[in-house]
Amino acid sequence: MKLIKSKITNKLLGTLLAIIPSLAFTQEIINTDTHRLEEVAEGVYFAIGTGDIYTMSNALIIERDDDVVIVDSHITPAAGRALLDSIRIVTSKPVTTLINSHFHYDHSNGTPAFGDIEIIGHEVTYEKLTSDPENEHTYQSSLRRFDNTVNRLETELSNAASVEERQELQQQLAYWQRHIEAQEEIVFTPPTQTLRDKMTLYRGGREIQLLFFGRAHTGGDLAIYLPEEKIVFTGDMMLGGISYMGDGYVAEWADTLRGLLSLDIELILPGHGPGFSEVERISHVADYYADLTREIRRLRSEGYSAEEAAARADLRQHSETLNVNQIGANLEAVERMYDIWEGRIQ
Ligand SMILES: [Zn+2]
Repeated sequence: MKLIKSKITNKLLGTLLAIIPSLAFTQEIINTDTHRLEEVAEGVYFAIGTGDIYTMSNALIIERDDDVVIVDSHITPAAGRALLDSIRIVTSKPVTTLINSHFHYDHSNGTPAFGDIEIIGHEVTYEKLTSDPENEHTYQSSLRRFDNTVNRLETELSNAASVEERQELQQQLAYWQRHIEAQEEIVFTPPTQTLRDKMTLYRGGREIQLLFFGRAHTGGDLAIYLPEEKIVFTGDMMLGGISYMGDGYVAEWADTLRGLLSLDIELILPGHGPGFSEVERISHVADYYADLTREIRRLRSEGYSAEEAAARADLRQHSETLNVNQIGANLEAVERMYDIWEGRIQ
């Protein structure tokens, strides 16, 4: 096996304690060829892709007495296999259960890598993954983005001035080409078991709560909560800052995040980016969605089109907490808000 295990406890501990000040647990970092695994509690690993395979989203690995539960499967079966190889570095127990935080391609298209296992997701995730997921606009726009990246790199390569630059661009190009080729293997795989509001898994000495607090980043976002460890994996309903809103329910999102705040949390692990322990960030992001809703509602009532409203929206009161320093809001989000208010989307 070509994966390398390197445990860097002492060297990184200072930095990690700075990132996660309230954690009493001594966090261990395990670097594999493709992942950085942060042991955030005993037998619980936060997996962040690092290697030369594109993973895009984070995953969570939860060891139980006799098996392993994972949350999210990355963006392609190839990335899912890399995750499975990384899991094998920390445990030989079988992966029996996969939880989908939500339906998006970058969190669920790696699922076939795990074979015939139990897959648990929200009812909306099931609906989305069984009704033409290949033509979902978010997935389709990601494919266009990857193609554009390859085209841009090809142009840059043909204009490269030095050997070093050429080599660097060739590496990047190969990385993205591998990712595009990996799309061919995708088989959209829905949950085998669904829930609407809440499910708790008690097997193997670990309590795992799957909680739905309302619509947010999608119609079926789950928070995966470990009450004993006070850790929550939030998928994309709560990132370090503002999430992609193209499939979101912005007007409902703040209430959903306030539901999340009812949990006793010491560490938040998002679907993208690093984990963090500042629970107040949830309120900051909730306030942004609430203010965005209010501002767009106001502009719409004054007769502005979605495009005009997106250009005029002033959310700069969030500059200190969320770095919103310029006038304007995401057009896709605003168009979607209009679509929902005008009944074109339910
Ligand atoms: Zn997402």
